[in-house]
Amino acid sequence: MKDYWQNYINGAWVDGGAGRIDIINPGTGEKIAEQALADAADVDRAVMAARAVHLSGALSDLRPVERGRMVQAIGRYLLDHIDEIAEVLTLEQGKPLWEAKIEINGAARYFEYYGNQAETVEGRSIPLGKGYFDFTTHEPFGVSAQIIPWNYPVEMTARSLSAGLATGNACVIKTPELTPLTNAWFAHAAEAVGLPKGAVNILCGLGHEAGAALSSHPHVNQIVFTGSVPTGIAIASAAAKNVVPCVLELGGKSAAIVHDDADLDAFENDVRWGIYFNAGQVCSAMSRVIVHDSVHDALVERVTGVAQSLTVKPGIEQPEFGATMGAMVSEAQRDRAAGMISDAVSAGAKVATGGRKMNIPGAFLEPTVLTDVTPDMTIANEEVFGPVLSVMKFSSDAQAIEIANGTPYGLVGGVFTRDIDRATTAARQLRAGQVFVNEWFAGGVETPFGGYGKSGYGREKGREALWNYVQTKNVAIKLKG
Ligand code: NAD
Repeated sequence: MKDYWQNYINGAWVDGGAGRIDIINPGTGEKIAEQALADAADVDRAVMAARAVHLSGALSDLRPVERGRMVQAIGRYLLDHIDEIAEVLTLEQGKPLWEAKIEINGAARYFEYYGNQAETVEGRSIPLGKGYFDFTTHEPFGVSAQIIPWNYPVEMTARSLSAGLATGNACVIKTPELTPLTNAWFAHAAEAVGLPKGAVNILCGLGHEAGAALSSHPHVNQIVFTGSVPTGIAIASAAAKNVVPCVLELGGKSAAIVHDDADLDAFENDVRWGIYFNAGQVCSAMSRVIVHDSVHDALVERVTGVAQSLTVKPGIEQPEFGATMGAMVSEAQRDRAAGMISDAVSAGAKVATGGRKMNIPGAFLEPTVLTDVTPDMTIANEEVFGPVLSVMKFSSDAQAIEIANGTPYGLVGGVFTRDIDRATTAARQLRAGQVFVNEWFAGGVETPFGGYGKSGYGREKGREALWNYVQTKNVAIKLKG
C-alpha cells in the first residue's frame, strides 16, 4: 500500500492546496495512508481542464461508437486490476474482501452497459409540413461534476462517470474524504484507454471546501450528487444559482411489506442482503420491515437467526463469499448508529438481537434487529445507515401502505406476497422510485433508479440516466421551394 495518494488533474498527479488527510482502516482503527486534499484553486484547474477538452471537441466530436469502446475498456481495466483495487477498497471502507469484488464487478458492469448505450442516443425528425426539415440532436452538457459518497466509492463513481463519458462529457469527480483511494484506478484506466488529458479528473477534498467549490463553479455545466439530504440541498442551491441541472441521489428509509402469504424462506435471504450487505450502509437498504400480525413472530425468529448467523470481523480476513459482515466506515458512523439504537429502546423498541458496539478495535456494530418499532419513532423515520433492521406490524393492506409511505423519503420499496393482484396494487401505491416484488434489489444496471420525495430527483442507471447527461437541440430548416 502506497503511503501517499495524489489527486489527478489534467492528466497529472498533483498535491492538494489544502494539504493531506489521514485515511483510516475502519477494520482496525489504524491509519493506512494519506490523501492529497484539493482546495478551490485545484478544483478550478480541474474544471478548466475539463472545459478545454469539451471545447476542443476531443470527446464530443467522436463517433459515439468510438467513445463507447473507450468506456467499455475502462470496465475491463477495472476487472484486470480487481485484486489490487479490492484490497484497497476493503482497507479504506471496511467491507469484506468478497463484497469489495462484487462492488468492482458492479462498477465494471456500468462501463459495459453505458459503453453499449453510447451509440443509441439518437434524435428524431419532426414533420413541419412542406418546405421544412426539422431534427433534434442530444449534445453533452460539457463539464459534468460528480460528487461521490463513501459507501460505494468505486461503484458510485462508475455509475456517473460511465454515463457521463458515453454521452461525451468531460468529468470532474470529487471523491469522498473517508474512502478516496480506490478512485485512483479510474485515472489509471482513463490513461490506459486513451482518453484525452482532462477528460477525467479525480480529486479528493473536504465537502465544504472542494465540494462546495465544485458545485458552485461557473464552468460546471451539470452536477450529479449521491449522498445525504442536507448536502443535496446545498448542492441543488449552488446549481440553481448557476442555472445548471443536477441529479440528486439521496438517502432512503425503505420498507419491505411482508404479507401473510409471503414465502418466508426466500425472505430470509433478502434480509441478509437487504440490511446486512455493506453493514447496512446502502441507500436502498431494507431498513424497515412491515409485517402482517399473523406472521410477525415467525418472521422475527427468522431475521434474528439471519443476524446471529453472521460472523463479523475485519474485511481483509474475509476473502470468501459467505455469512460475514465487515466494519462500518468509521467509528463516528458506528457511534451514530449505536446512539440511534439506544434512543429507539428509550422510546419503547426492543432489541431482538445485537444492538451494541463490539468490544474489538475498529468500527464494528452487531447485526441488529429491533422489534416493537412504531411509525412515530425516530428510528422508523430517519436513516440509520448501519446494520439495523426495524420491524413493525400491520393488520390491513391499507395500513401497510400508509406506514411504508409515512416517511419523507421514497427511494425504493418492496412487497412480499404470492398474490399478484396484491403485489401490483402495492406497487402502484408505494411512493418510491423503484419497487421490488418478492426479491429485494431485483433489477440491475439496466433498470432506472432514483428517488421520490426527499430521496432526490433525476435517475441514474438504465437508459433514463442518459437523458440527464445531454441537452436537446432542435434544428428547424426552411427549405427552398
Ligand atoms: P454526504 O452528503 O455527507 O457526502 C457526500 C459527498 O458530498 C462527499 O463527497 C462530501 O465530501 C460531499 N459534500 C459534503 N458537503 C458538501 C457541500 N457543502 N458541497 C458539496 N459537496 C459536499 O454523504 P455521505 O455521508 O458520504 O453518504 C451517505 C449518504 O449518501 C446517505 O444518506 C445515503 O443514503 C446516501 N447515498 C445515496 C445513494 C443513492 O444512490 N441514492 C447511494 C449511496 C449513498
